[in-house]
Amino acid sequence: MFIGHFAVGLASKRAAPKASLGPLMAAPLLADLLWPIFLLLGWEQVRLVPGGKTFQVLEFTSYPYSHSLEMDVVWGLLFATVYWGLTRYRAGAAVIFCGVLSHWVMDVIVHVPDLPITVNGSTRLGLGLWNSVAGTVLVEYVLLATGAWLYARTTRARDRTGRWSFWAFVALLALFYASSIFAGAPPTVPALAGGTLVLWLFPFWAGWFDRHRDVVV
Ligand SMILES: [Zn+2]
Repeated sequence: MFIGHFAVGLASKRAAPKASLGPLMAAPLLADLLWPIFLLLGWEQVRLVPGGKTFQVLEFTSYPYSHSLEMDVVWGLLFATVYWGLTRYRAGAAVIFCGVLSHWVMDVIVHVPDLPITVNGSTRLGLGLWNSVAGTVLVEYVLLATGAWLYARTTRARDRTGRWSFWAFVALLALFYASSIFAGAPPTVPALAGGTLVLWLFPFWAGWFDRHRDVVV
């Protein structure tokens, strides 16, 4: 899943309005923030499938440290604990924990069976929504629209940055996703990992426009 994870981050603001959108956005993205680093370190592997079907130009051969349910519970607990230690905001910590776990749950819906439950086990889950391109695209866009709508109803722009930076964020994601539908396999794994590292900018961007918006609920 791609923009659906951002949708969870945006929607999280409603459940934890006092939390900055930065960490709320980082939580559901966390598995995909760690993954390119683990790829570059050689801890996880991916196989490129040039000429593969839409959404299936990558074969996730091994990614237990970033994408197993077991490790996502660990990452979620770590992130939530650090967040709680810094802010003492219980709802925020709970939402962050759920956000980290949501990544695995949402990936299970779209991936073909490649998601591990434990680090060492051989069971792989995936309901394979990716086999339906139209179904996947519909689900991703409906999720993004719902997340953006919830966030827009939970907060109000205090200034132009709060308004336009937020809508630019949503529009760029929508465009990114549209272009990803037609993208082929990346040329090399380091190029893929390097490109994926761009995701690290998004929680900071979200935290930035969130500071220019007031909570209205
Ligand atoms: Zn993922």
